[in-house]
Amino acid sequence: MKIAVIGAGAAGLAALRHCVSGTYGDQVVCYEKTDQIGGTWVYREETGSDRYGLPIHTSMYKSLRTNLPKEVMGYPDFPAPEGPESYLTRTEILDFLNAYCDHFALRPHIRLLHNVELVRPVAGDRKWSVKVRDLQGDVVVTEPFDAVMVCNGHYFEPRIPSMSGQEVFAGRQMHSHDYRVPEVFDGKNVVVLGAGPSGMDLALEISRNASRVILSHHLTESIATVFPENVVQKADVVELTEREAVFADGTKEQVDVVFYCTGYKYNFPFLDESCEVRVDSNMVTPLWKHLVSVENPTLALIGLPFYVCAFSMFDLQVRFVLRHWRGERQFPARADMLSSEAEEAARRAERGLQKRHFHMMGPEQGHYYDDLANVAGVTPLPPVLTKLHNDSSMRFLDDLVHYRQDRYKIVDDYNFVQL
Ligand SMILES: Cc1cc2nc3c(=O)[nH]c(=O)nc-3n(C[C@H](O)[C@H](O)[C@H](O)COP(=O)(O)OP(=O)(O)OC[C@H]3O[C@@H](n4cnc5c(N)ncnc54)[C@H](O)[C@@H]3O)c2cc1C
Repeated sequence: MKIAVIGAGAAGLAALRHCVSGTYGDQVVCYEKTDQIGGTWVYREETGSDRYGLPIHTSMYKSLRTNLPKEVMGYPDFPAPEGPESYLTRTEILDFLNAYCDHFALRPHIRLLHNVELVRPVAGDRKWSVKVRDLQGDVVVTEPFDAVMVCNGHYFEPRIPSMSGQEVFAGRQMHSHDYRVPEVFDGKNVVVLGAGPSGMDLALEISRNASRVILSHHLTESIATVFPENVVQKADVVELTEREAVFADGTKEQVDVVFYCTGYKYNFPFLDESCEVRVDSNMVTPLWKHLVSVENPTLALIGLPFYVCAFSMFDLQVRFVLRHWRGERQFPARADMLSSEAEEAARRAERGLQKRHFHMMGPEQGHYYDDLANVAGVTPLPPVLTKLHNDSSMRFLDDLVHYRQDRYKIVDDYNFVQL
């Protein structure tokens, strides 16, 4: 097969690693629009657009340390490096991805500074046409492929809720995608919208520079973590005035910055409508197992599920897809794939989950991994990953200030210890 991989972040590298391995003789080309591998782990000071006029992809900030222990951040056949700390810096993760890339000799297959502009199914021997711009030469080429793995990430397109008064607010409004260093908040009153992992983390980080931080969220319970004294929690912001944020409980606060930590939207700007992949309220359909396009099963979207052991899951998803593409497993009939997706949507709706949580895994992730491994007949992920992921997520919620000091060791496929 001739396979295109779009993106050379952690997912694209896993895709490449398996596409080039074995005796299949698949040809594979990985297109990466930036000048280096690593995706969101590449820190860039600039925000906005790059020198080629493309939006800056990375959402990485300078001081970032992982919010998961390295013991769950490796690939199944390439664990994160040994070392005393469990929570690594962004540089250590980027070094790790570069080491992975070199270990499996992936670089010759990667075309840096190549932006995929359009992917569409075509009639003929090869099923896909991929239009790519070589950014340095400003040359556009269209190449045919048998299959496409989309690995373009999903933390680059900010989701900003609309609220009344946004246009009259005289202070600054920024999204966490554009956050790099805390000094921009020196002495400011900041309202942080959203208490997901980045809202929590960033509220804490900027509290050292900001005068006052208001963490605004709609969690039913107040967050257990003890924040510094200048951080308070409040209900949702319902309106902005020229200088103030108005909260759902009727109170008002004077603020200088509205800091949106409100997440991201899935976006596949290069997928032509004829690919028949739709995004509705952050639910990507129709897909079999959050992964394979039902209408065109030689199109796979790697890495959509979140609150997962990402790198290991990417690896498993890629092995799953390749088993099918290489004919060792058959795709179910279209109607069966659609009903499997509809059943999952119904199960999730029954649990009170919104559409935008359709790809959320969290405590459920183990079932998803087992299902992929069983269906494709590939080596499963060890249950200890889910166990440790869940443990560290609880620690994050309970003690945001100190949880990164925890150190773990995996003992076997089922057990870990905290050192
Ligand atoms: C601030 C932040 C902190 C995080 N912390 C953690 C953590 O602690 N632990 C954890 O497990 N996960 C964390 N994550 C999640 C992280 O996104 C995943 O771990 C993982 O790196 C995602 O890899 P990816 O390959 O799917 O996407 P990305 O890393 O986003 O890579 C996608 C790549 O595709 C390229 N690309 C996009 N469009 C095109 C195109 N049209 N043509 C060519 N190339 C294209 C991009 O340039 C990029 O290199 C964090 C994410 C963020 C934003």
